[in-house]
Amino acid sequence: MGLSEYLFVFAFFGVPGVLGAWLARTRGKSPLVWGLLSAPFPFFIFILWFQKPTQEVPGHFRKCLTCGAVYPWKQDFCTYCAAKSEE
Ligand SMILES: [Zn+2]
Repeated sequence: MGLSEYLFVFAFFGVPGVLGAWLARTRGKSPLVWGLLSAPFPFFIFILWFQKPTQEVPGHFRKCLTCGAVYPWKQDFCTYCAAKSEE
């Protein structure tokens, strides 16, 4: 394969793979597994995008100590019960 073919393959599988891996990381899932799934099937990126993590992911999602809901890290109160976060 020539360089342009490698670039094409990278754009075709590498970009969705990296995107899937990064999204998986922000949602507390395995970046390796989801990266490998997303590379040939970019559809998995959409699944990940709408997924919420089941546990706290530092820097990305907090878990509410009062009701157990998961909400964005940037927010300082729970989306569901409005309880304040620890910090
Ligand atoms: Zn809550």
